[in-house]
Amino acid sequence: FDDRDGVIWYDGALVPWRDAKLHVLSHALHYGSSVFEGERVYGGNVFKLTEHSARLARSAEVLGFQLPYSVAEIDAATRLVVKEMGFADAYVRPVAWRGSEMMGVSAQASRIHVAIAVWQWPSYFSPEAKMKGIRLMWAPYRRPAPECAPTEAKAAGLYMICTLSKHQAEAQGFQDALMLDHRGLLAEATGANLFLVIDGRLHTPKPDSFLDGITRQTVVGLARDLGIEVVERAIRPEELATAQEVFLTGTAAEVTPVGEIGEHRFTPGRISEALVKAYDAAVRTPPVAAPLGAVAAE
Ligand code: PMP
Repeated sequence: FDDRDGVIWYDGALVPWRDAKLHVLSHALHYGSSVFEGERVYGGNVFKLTEHSARLARSAEVLGFQLPYSVAEIDAATRLVVKEMGFADAYVRPVAWRGSEMMGVSAQASRIHVAIAVWQWPSYFSPEAKMKGIRLMWAPYRRPAPECAPTEAKAAGLYMICTLSKHQAEAQGFQDALMLDHRGLLAEATGANLFLVIDGRLHTPKPDSFLDGITRQTVVGLARDLGIEVVERAIRPEELATAQEVFLTGTAAEVTPVGEIGEHRFTPGRISEALVKAYDAAVRTPPVAAPLGAVAAE
């Protein structure tokens, strides 16, 4: 990934892709003091850009540091690097981390770095796999309780168990793993939220120990617009036996129907299809431009 043409926005400037480096004694590498975002560009526009930039700033605060840039500055930097890279459809990865000024658990005076990279990343899962519904196994790890980790942050440290779970799933021929929470309730996949269709209603686990995804919030809104009732609640794993359809949501995953979770089987149907289409339409609707002339015209 480091040997490419193009530029990366790094601490306020655009630097050649191959030169966007950091020191091996960076605190983030040793102690996980890093937060990040995942965004998608559709037709040159970053979908929900400000929501993502704001979440990056919030995640940093949860980890006890402040970004040296405002949310508006992060938005502008993102637009700049997206424009420079010139992809109509792409993935954006902002990341912020503690630098190499201090080594040890305490690193109060470390410099905070921010970088934003953009690359082409087509659908997470192949279109064929998507239509059939992807296959998930049960993850070997559970999501930690909010008393055990800052679960509301999109923090690099929380992804260790996601990578371990995803690798184990892939080694056994599955596309992803479904994680339970600390209580044994349904939580999420390793990088996407979970929805169940039970008798025409949409059910989704309450995000009290994992990320309340921006895609999740978008899909809840789209479903309600379509007149589909959405229920956020604690869902026990055995309730998967009562679900007709299941899908995942995430910036990278978009809306991805699921065909299998452990012993349970599902057939992607009418509601999954409607939401795949509604999400596709929503991400491709250009943001409404600020009414600059409005005041002068009045
Ligand atoms: N959960 C995890 C663990 C994730 O990595 C992601 C992707 N950021 C999500 C949920 C979905 O979040 P979003 O819809 O904001 O991308």
